[in-house]
Amino acid sequence: MILRMRLQPEALGSGLTSQRVRDRLVERLREGAPYGEGIRDERVLNAIRTVPRHLFVDEALATRAYEDTALPIGHGQTISQPWVVARMTEALLDAPTPPAKVLEIGTGSGYQAAILAALGLEVHTVERIGELLRTARKRFRQLGLNVRSKHDDGRIGWPENGPFDAIVVTAAAPALVEALTAQLAPGGTLVAPVGAGAGQALLRLRKGADGTIEQRNLGAVTFVPLLSGMVD
Ligand code: SAH
Repeated sequence: MILRMRLQPEALGSGLTSQRVRDRLVERLREGAPYGEGIRDERVLNAIRTVPRHLFVDEALATRAYEDTALPIGHGQTISQPWVVARMTEALLDAPTPPAKVLEIGTGSGYQAAILAALGLEVHTVERIGELLRTARKRFRQLGLNVRSKHDDGRIGWPENGPFDAIVVTAAAPALVEALTAQLAPGGTLVAPVGAGAGQALLRLRKGADGTIEQRNLGAVTFVPLLSGMVD
């Protein structure tokens, strides 16, 4: 299931970035508390065990990469908390037909995209901050991960490459973005934080074969805002 990951010595890590530390994070995610429900999907836990999160943050923060916490990645943005990444990925995989092609809005560090790619999904990701995207692309190359990416305002999605079996939005909008729901294939699943400030909820949308939408609230979350326009 884990595809084409090239793990060189620095990816394997040492001390606080070692495989042992990554394994301990996986055990905490499995238990869940105090953050929320335990993560059950072994495919997701395996991906977390495999992808070296310490390579997705600044070297100065690498020793904190396996704490279950969001960390700053510059430009006022954060790499999401591992439990949240795991929960969203689990929600995307838990579909009647397993997804093959996925769109992520908000590449950030590239970690969520790398987890999806490690699961063997065809990943398309969009980021509005050019510098974050360039750094994420280096990481994909370094790890041999095949991720298609675009520097753009993700609120328009990626219509030329759609429709997608799964869409994950990693920044919060006040309401669901119509253009993204439209790029979801019949039978597809969209996971997105919706709401302003402290009142965000993680929503899961399922599009039926007839185009009808079924919505479920997966619980309270805190994401950076989905902003408009692009920056270098
Ligand atoms: N998935 C990321 C999380 C990064 S935080 C990770 O694993 O690290 C959310 C990201 O969404 C930020 O990088 C932010 O710049 C980006 N973002 C916010 N609004 C956006 C928009 N309209 N289009 C694309 N990306 C956006």
